[in-house]
Amino acid sequence: MKSKQRLLWHAALAATLFPVAAFDAVAQPVSAASAVSSASAVSAQAPLQDFTAWKAQFRTQALESGISADTFDRAFADVAPDPSVIERDQTQPEFVNPVWEYLDAELSAQRIQRGRELLQANAATFAAVSARYGVAPTVLAAIWGIESNYGQDTGELQVVRSLATLGYEGRRRAFAQTQLIAALQIVQHGDVTADQLLGSWAGAMGQTQFIPSTYNTYAVDFDGDGKRNIWTSSADALGSAANLLHSLGWHAGAPIAVEVTLPDGFDYHLADLGVKKAVREWYRSGVRAVGDAPASAQPDDNASVILPAGYRGPAFLVFDNFRAVLGYNNSTSYALAAALLAERYEGRGQIRASWPKDDPPLSRSDLLALQALLDQQGYDAGEPDGVAGPATRAAIRAYQTRHGLPADGYASVSLLDRLRR
Ligand code: CA
Repeated sequence: MKSKQRLLWHAALAATLFPVAAFDAVAQPVSAASAVSSASAVSAQAPLQDFTAWKAQFRTQALESGISADTFDRAFADVAPDPSVIERDQTQPEFVNPVWEYLDAELSAQRIQRGRELLQANAATFAAVSARYGVAPTVLAAIWGIESNYGQDTGELQVVRSLATLGYEGRRRAFAQTQLIAALQIVQHGDVTADQLLGSWAGAMGQTQFIPSTYNTYAVDFDGDGKRNIWTSSADALGSAANLLHSLGWHAGAPIAVEVTLPDGFDYHLADLGVKKAVREWYRSGVRAVGDAPASAQPDDNASVILPAGYRGPAFLVFDNFRAVLGYNNSTSYALAAALLAERYEGRGQIRASWPKDDPPLSRSDLLALQALLDQQGYDAGEPDGVAGPATRAAIRAYQTRHGLPADGYASVSLLDRLRR
């Protein structure tokens, strides 16, 4: 997938439960930091005032938050709303890539090869970052590769302008305004000037694609030049990503995810991130690792079973480090891609089971239809929002259980067909 398309697609699905960005999804990857818009956000409304009046009002708010008049006035000197940002904010993607297509795109041979070269060329930096934060070089390379194609796609828009646009007339103005204040704090702190503060249309910045508030809390000056620079210093970017993962509870040496097979008669209700058990319990119930055994998984480690494409597709045992990656970017597809890419650099990480390519995930409008049908038939999927969140999955499971189907909670085309009959 092309990077710009990817960012657009990601951002339209993102939400804000986690430090960087978050979205509760099984198969809908979101960008690390493009957390400004949400599929469940309220519809757009025309701004109540013109931009100049809004800016004056926001200036008061910014100054009350500790931004100096000088910082604000310089950063806003030439700022006018950016129509392209609003256009992207209003776009709700109709089609969600199936997880297997997402993985194919993120784990391309080119991506793997480039990562290997960079791991070698920057071995000393990776080793130093890893020694300080406990995150393996391969994992950091994978995050770096997925977030910004190893620093090549860092975003070219001025973050202050983008966030001012979204704060003025976006779908989630309060959130955008919070990020805008955080962006002004970055400028005031002196790491970069407002002109150098570049990112995606939704304010995801630099090689790590941090939003400003994440930058303020987690970015580090790893190369020691006195400035935190996630835009052009790969050492700072890698250090910052590692610092974030470390803060999210990273366990050094522990796995992220391992492909498993499930025993006959497995209760698919248990295949859910909300169900955590010790590894030994999963093994006792007949769950088995396939391919490379998870040598580093300890029997007492907590893990969950996930089925990213339903019971007919591959199953994975995912560990606390999987949850840390979700804290970076709350998408199971993203976390799975990071886990697998890290292994592919070393020639591992091939998925053994096949994907149910004849049963792709639903488009947005089909998911809305599914949610409405479930509601009509007495299964509480919540207000239809076109997103397969926890309530929708629970409603699907209730329907599946009632009808003697494997209760995997997967919103598939075949399920919708059945509900429509
Ligand atoms: Ca630095």
